[in-house]
Amino acid sequence: LSRLFLERIHQSDLNAFLHVDDTLTLAQAKAADEKFAKKEAGKLTGIPVAHKDVFVTKGWRSTAASKMLANYTSPFDAAVVEKLQQAGMVTLGKLNCDEFAMGSSNETSWFGPVKNPWDKTAIPGGSSGGSAAAVAAGLTPVATGTDTGGSIRQPASFCGITGIKPTYGRVSRHGMMAYASSMDQGGPLAKTAEDCAMLLTAIAGFDPRDSTSVERETEDFTRDLNKPLTGLKIGIPREYFGEGLAADVEQAVRNALAEYEKLGASLVDISLQNTTMCIPAYYVIGSAEASSNLSRFDGIRYGFRAENYTDLQDMYRKTRTEGFGEEVRRRIIMGTYVLSHGYYDAYYIHAQKIRRLIAEDFRAAFTRCDVIMGPVSPTVAWNIGEKADDPVASYLGDIYTISTNLAGLPGMSIPCGFGQGEINSRRPVGLQLTGNYFDEMRLLNIAHQYQ
Ligand code: GLN
Repeated sequence: LSRLFLERIHQSDLNAFLHVDDTLTLAQAKAADEKFAKKEAGKLTGIPVAHKDVFVTKGWRSTAASKMLANYTSPFDAAVVEKLQQAGMVTLGKLNCDEFAMGSSNETSWFGPVKNPWDKTAIPGGSSGGSAAAVAAGLTPVATGTDTGGSIRQPASFCGITGIKPTYGRVSRHGMMAYASSMDQGGPLAKTAEDCAMLLTAIAGFDPRDSTSVERETEDFTRDLNKPLTGLKIGIPREYFGEGLAADVEQAVRNALAEYEKLGASLVDISLQNTTMCIPAYYVIGSAEASSNLSRFDGIRYGFRAENYTDLQDMYRKTRTEGFGEEVRRRIIMGTYVLSHGYYDAYYIHAQKIRRLIAEDFRAAFTRCDVIMGPVSPTVAWNIGEKADDPVASYLGDIYTISTNLAGLPGMSIPCGFGQGEINSRRPVGLQLTGNYFDEMRLLNIAHQYQ
């Protein structure tokens, strides 16, 4: 099985993979075969998986799609990688993404953009663009991704696949390169909710190596997949269907909602009134945390170091200027600014207050409904290069996904139809499901009933 996928990967021109090593993969596949021979195989034994390149892996390179770490190999495995390997899964390689997971289109990768398999002139979404494109193109059955502000849900939506961002604290962040630690969360991308449920079951759980990991009983997320949806109350946030939402996306989402009504659900009008404030709040908090997390890349401890420098200061400056791409540098500067004396209260503290208001909106909404539904993104995938020089346009596209991370809630994207690309191609549309804290079981059930 792994050999088949490796062949497809070698033939693909999507730029979804950054590092494959057939020898390592086939050795893991052989070990899986032996488990079968000894009748020790579990549900996931021998199934191939590929990891977003922000999860460190022993053996394969771990680059975060940055020049800074272009030749970096980690001495240990991330918790997610470790757990899937323990379950017998076979690693196919490492997947392209936006540099340090900062972006919405996979164009900030130092290794170049990933192409959307539905239309190779389109972006696959980001930052887990390589993960989504690889699953959609059949280069791997399932993949891991991370979601700090939509990076699992938005690429899943743009590539017509399924992805789940778990509740903050559900999946260990140990060995996941940090972007914005208070929002980063790893999760699976796959073709179906059922596959996501199997993967989530394997990766969820308490880990003392991650200080924000939550202690909870382990759950089998496939348990409730077949529960009927009769009586389900779906909250429809007014703010998600207003100005800025493309007509083709709105149509696909409304069709999906009508399907849910046929399955026995009812729609409830709700308000998430602070929605427009989520973008500035997220980019202030996210950048602040990034500026702190990325200070470790100093040319000494890891990876790249500039060649010619005069003294220590000059070495730091040149290493970080040459090693980081434009978007990463922009966020470090923005983050340093909002944390600096005199601006901290005006920006950072203010953003934290907005964060609380956003969480409060969700709390109130969940007293009236069981799940919230809406679009993942205001548009279908745009063309490669289209927004490359306009970061703000790209930030605005995160409007429906970001508040979930600010509140720490679980969210999903499931395919619900197609819209039109500019050149009249079929580009997938995703339906977003947002659940209450630790309600992944129900989200997966709701997604599975539609699929
Ligand atoms: N697009 C968002 C950003 O650029 C989200 C990224 C993410 O979730 N990692 O920050």
